[in-house]
Amino acid sequence: MSFSSLGLSDNILKGIRAMGYEDPTPIQLRGIPLFLEGRDLIGSAQTGTGKTAAFGLPILTKLGKPADTPRALIVEPTRELASQVETAFRDFSRYSDLRTTVLYGGVKYGKQTDDLKRGTDIVVATPGRLLDHVSQKNLTLKNIQYLVLDEADRMLDMGFMPDVKKIIQKCPEKRHTSLFSATIPPIIETIIQWAMKDPQTVEIGMRRSVADTISHSVYPVAFDQKNDLVLALLGKVDFDSVIVFCRTKVGADKVGSLLKRQNHSVAILHSNRTQAERERSLKGFRDGKFEVLVATDIASRGLDIANVSHVVNYDVPQHPEDYVHRIGRTGRAAATGDAFTIMVAEDRQHMEAVERFIGKKINREKMDGFDYKYTSLFDDGKLGSTPRFRGGSIGRGYSFGMSTRKGGGRRRRR
Ligand code: AMP
Repeated sequence: MSFSSLGLSDNILKGIRAMGYEDPTPIQLRGIPLFLEGRDLIGSAQTGTGKTAAFGLPILTKLGKPADTPRALIVEPTRELASQVETAFRDFSRYSDLRTTVLYGGVKYGKQTDDLKRGTDIVVATPGRLLDHVSQKNLTLKNIQYLVLDEADRMLDMGFMPDVKKIIQKCPEKRHTSLFSATIPPIIETIIQWAMKDPQTVEIGMRRSVADTISHSVYPVAFDQKNDLVLALLGKVDFDSVIVFCRTKVGADKVGSLLKRQNHSVAILHSNRTQAERERSLKGFRDGKFEVLVATDIASRGLDIANVSHVVNYDVPQHPEDYVHRIGRTGRAAATGDAFTIMVAEDRQHMEAVERFIGKKINREKMDGFDYKYTSLFDDGKLGSTPRFRGGSIGRGYSFGMSTRKGGGRRRRR
């Protein structure tokens, strides 16, 4: 089925063609007709499945012509996601006169206020800054016809639910509401009951699944060898671009400095960085200026970073669903990707929780030639062969589940 049979307007179809989209993705195929029929939607799909277009295209079609007041509101948990969705809306609507404005914190109000004063049809915003603008009377939500709560579980994790409730209350009761979330914990269920009318759920694939195109491996190691192992992995792997995920901001800074000292070109992304720094990091990584992005989980949800060949979890994620989000950065749009997770003894339970969550056992691997110290993880008997310990017995060689290049070293991103 093609885009042209979904009921989208001509100028939006032209916009999609200009973006090079040929066929709708499954969430677009199922979501767009329901949306156009006026049904409230709950969307559950892996990141990278095209969910932005699944709500963006029908909203733009329904809005039709520009008006004096914002009629569509998309609420996003992070500034990065907000600006990504704004860009997508601008791209989709390039052959229409509809206007999109983005509002997020961490920057001055001036430009945002000016944009609102000039008039806009669609507002993409993070909750706090949106409410600030509403209380300063820079915009009203009274005429919102289409409300989208994107990445709702992430908004919950970040403590935004009270703000989200206030936002919903400021929108008219008669409106179309859609909500996207990888998981539906009880609080989100309550919001659904309260804010949505007879919603249809569009679930694409298993909520907890990871793309089939990714190969996963876990590298057990002693705690004080994590740095050596991450360097050894990056030295061996044939990567074009890699994201290294850390659990904490301090950890991300430390790992970033470690990799810089080894002459990797590195960008760091976490919420203690200024907005300008975050934008520079993301843009530089997307453009190939940096080959490694070291990030906390802020970067794992929904961010559209194309062509990530590898994901390295320097720390096992504390929340199993974050594994799925982190890994969603690679293997997007059916490109193959590799995901490595470094595991220390304290991570055992978290790793098992991840495996239960994704319903898959991940192979434990050893890196050939790495001078391993003993860790109790090697007693688990899951490695399939005798490890090579520092000062201990020499084991046989291990195969590793990653693409390696003869001669080692790394390659600049094309
Ligand atoms: P999203 O899940 O909305 O973040 O989209 C992930 C990526 O897929 C983005 O780079 C989109 O531009 C791209 N995309 C979305 N829909 C399609 C489509 N129908 N055909 C090709 N690419 C698409």
